[in-house]
Amino acid sequence: MNDPIAKIDIFIVALAQDEPYLGSLRNNESINQNGYFVRQGNRTVYPRNNRSLVVRLRSESGVVGWGETYGLVAPKATAEIIRDLLTPFVLTRNPVDVERIHDELSDLMRVRGYVGGFYSDALAAIDIALWDVLGKQKQQSLAQLIGGQRMTSIPAYVSGLPRDTLLERTELAAQWAADGYDAFKFALPVADDGPLKEMAALRSRLGPSVKIACDLHWALSRQAAVSLDRELEPFCPWFLEAPLATEDIAGLAQVAHEAKGAIAVGEEWRTLFDAKLRIDREACQIIQPEMGHTGVTQFLRISRYAESKGLEIMPHSTIGSGIFLAASLQAASTFKNVRYHEFQHSIFRRFQSFTTGTMACESGDYMLPDGWGIGVEPSDEMQGHMTLYT
Ligand code: MG
Repeated sequence: MNDPIAKIDIFIVALAQDEPYLGSLRNNESINQNGYFVRQGNRTVYPRNNRSLVVRLRSESGVVGWGETYGLVAPKATAEIIRDLLTPFVLTRNPVDVERIHDELSDLMRVRGYVGGFYSDALAAIDIALWDVLGKQKQQSLAQLIGGQRMTSIPAYVSGLPRDTLLERTELAAQWAADGYDAFKFALPVADDGPLKEMAALRSRLGPSVKIACDLHWALSRQAAVSLDRELEPFCPWFLEAPLATEDIAGLAQVAHEAKGAIAVGEEWRTLFDAKLRIDREACQIIQPEMGHTGVTQFLRISRYAESKGLEIMPHSTIGSGIFLAASLQAASTFKNVRYHEFQHSIFRRFQSFTTGTMACESGDYMLPDGWGIGVEPSDEMQGHMTLYT
């Protein structure tokens, strides 16, 4: 089949919410003139109004594919990389060469920073869209294209409890538990009473059989991480996520060896090389690839490598319109070692109507999108929130 890419359009999608991501602003957290604020608990910048970046690829015969990456901060930077730099190298290319295209686009910037940040995000959006076009051309789902679907639903864990008090957060978790969810994760930056009290209260409220993880948002020292692992042990944490600054790989390996609980990392990784640096040092037991950063190609490379080493794959999921989430669920469904997929309920429930198709999360499980390619497209509602970038 020769049906090359003929057109690329880029959109910035407004994902405005009533509440800031992770919950209301805490003391010393305020919005600056450009709409950003800094979470004091992890020193990370977030926009008050979320957004995302979506690309639409159209083949010569009119097959349309969609891709998405992070557009949270400075989305026009990523959009301009796609418009100015990547577009001429993708036009006229055949989607069947998707992995080769990915590698060639990486090579373009090898000496200027191809391993992270905005450039990798731009590649991820293009990569997802190319896989989507290819699936539609071959009349197969993404899962079929990459080796075959092993499951049509994936257990979802409830991520984040955006409420102001510990009592409200435990009650919110209990509501989800009553709705059929058996796994949870809370975030250190908004655990105002500290991770130990947060874990103790959740364990007490939810009972012994529910899984409870703690996302440490890269905030601890090595010693503090090992100490916290000891303190949390009586409450049987599911896993501790991202305990140290991402660049402290030796420290992460030390913590993973000394901690009794499982260590999970990977949401910020872009490529297999990020993964190998940690996996080869046995610095984690669970990996959390994020489709919005990796695209399909690197998601597969990272996950296949992790699975070959016996690690659990627990895909990450955060702020997006549903396009990269659909790709993540499709890809995740092909792996034996996926037992849960993150469920950002405050995002997904708000924007579920932004995509077409059967993708849903109900009673503790994601229902996978069906149809060819990634299985979803922007709905009419989402199109009303998309601005063409030119
Ligand atoms: Mg996290």
